[in-house]
Amino acid sequence: VQGIPIQDGCILNKNPATGELISKVPITTNVEEIVEKAHDAFLPWSTTTSAQERIELLKKGLEEIKSISTELAPLITQEMGKPLLEAQGEVEGVADKDEYFQILQDALQPIQHNSSTVIRQALGVVVILSPWNFPADEILLLALPALASGNTVIVKPSEVTPETGRMVVESMAKYLPTNVLQVAQGDGSVGAALVGNTSVKMVCMTGSSATGKKILSTAAPQLKRCVLELGGKDPMIVFDSADLEKAAHDAVAYSLSNSGQVCCSIERIYVADAVHDEFCKVVSEKFAPNFKVGNGMEMENLVGPLVSTTQKEHVEAHVQDAIDKGAELLYQSSVPEDAPEGSSFFPVTVLSNVQRGMRLYDEETFGPVVALTRFSGQEREAIDLANNDSPYGLGSAVYTKDEELAQRVATQIQAGQVGINCYALDHMDVACPWVGHKESGFGFHSGRQGFENFSLPKTIVNVPK
Ligand code: NAP
Repeated sequence: VQGIPIQDGCILNKNPATGELISKVPITTNVEEIVEKAHDAFLPWSTTTSAQERIELLKKGLEEIKSISTELAPLITQEMGKPLLEAQGEVEGVADKDEYFQILQDALQPIQHNSSTVIRQALGVVVILSPWNFPADEILLLALPALASGNTVIVKPSEVTPETGRMVVESMAKYLPTNVLQVAQGDGSVGAALVGNTSVKMVCMTGSSATGKKILSTAAPQLKRCVLELGGKDPMIVFDSADLEKAAHDAVAYSLSNSGQVCCSIERIYVADAVHDEFCKVVSEKFAPNFKVGNGMEMENLVGPLVSTTQKEHVEAHVQDAIDKGAELLYQSSVPEDAPEGSSFFPVTVLSNVQRGMRLYDEETFGPVVALTRFSGQEREAIDLANNDSPYGLGSAVYTKDEELAQRVATQIQAGQVGINCYALDHMDVACPWVGHKESGFGFHSGRQGFENFSLPKTIVNVPK
């Protein structure tokens, strides 16, 4: 999808800030053999270890990842462009999991109902297909519960971040029995071969909704279990009673973090008519200019390059289309003047009057764009716009000092997460599931309810004689 070149059976892994070659990564050609090894490793892993023992091994793997964070974080920045500080945050986040493991362990315990005991049964070989935007985190979010549940796992990292994927998998696999956790490299065709393999019993994918639909159609004839975490077009609603400074700050910060390449980026900002002009001014004059675009290895740059030149062209097309159809360009930053050939910097861009019929409004953009839309300020209209103007339903946010209004809107928005005067992802408790409603997901992970999706309940009835 990202147009990553493949030459002589290798991915040409390039740095989007410099265009330089990082490495040549051989594409996995023995998919069937890898699956067979995972299949053979499944029985001993699932039957001779307890959930607690498995979790102890996973903790050691995470310690290992923590110990290589000074290598791993810069590698993430070099492979996909995010600022080093954000990459460090991603690695620290994956390593800090005590409470998480307690919830995971509780989710896997047998439950007794009189003479019936419900135990958890692992599924078998699980394939994890991961995206490039959080290339370490998105592997572990799925691999940890899958492995703790007793499955064996094959990870196929994104073609854009193969070395990060390899490093995460190898660090963790060191502490696990042979072939319990393996890596396969390549583009979507390697992913498709894994999904279609009949020995694979579950597919966990984080990526676009388009890829999710393809995976579901391949998995359907085998009734394969799937957990798919997909795209988003998150709405933020700013009522006239909002703390405008706080709302404007968050609108900019969460449209731009990871260069706007976050599944739950703010992509549609609905601003009440009464405060619209003031809000636009604060966004474009006070907050957006703080975000300097440049190589993420230099700390002053808060917005790195987009992941690839293909992604840059996609965002450029959305912005141009919006301007051609009447959106107003309120602010656009500079990009590095000496940007090397093959780099993919895109300026921080603020647009108002973003409307239906513009690609920037109708489709997932995934770029450093703050997209503002005026609305009447009425509660009903806000809910209609948030729910009916997009097929997605991942995150969302509502900003108002009116607590009752906030609660009513939060209840009615069709999304897996709603932040009231905040960005939900930043404050969500570790016990909560991560869910995509509508076309943003199929199945879900995290929290006790999410952890239960990586094994099946089985009831053993033992009536005393
Ligand atoms: P993507 O292109 O859909 O790819 C996701 C993974 O699936 C990659 O490993 C990809 O391999 C693989 N793949 C592609 N085609 C396949 C096929 N036909 N069969 C099996 N596997 C296939 O997504 P992306 O561009 O990497 O990631 C960005 C998307 O992820 C955005 O839409 C974003 O919103 C979403 N996302 C969602 C969440 C969430 O929690 N909901 C979190 C992060 C990202 P290649 O990369 O090698 O092609």
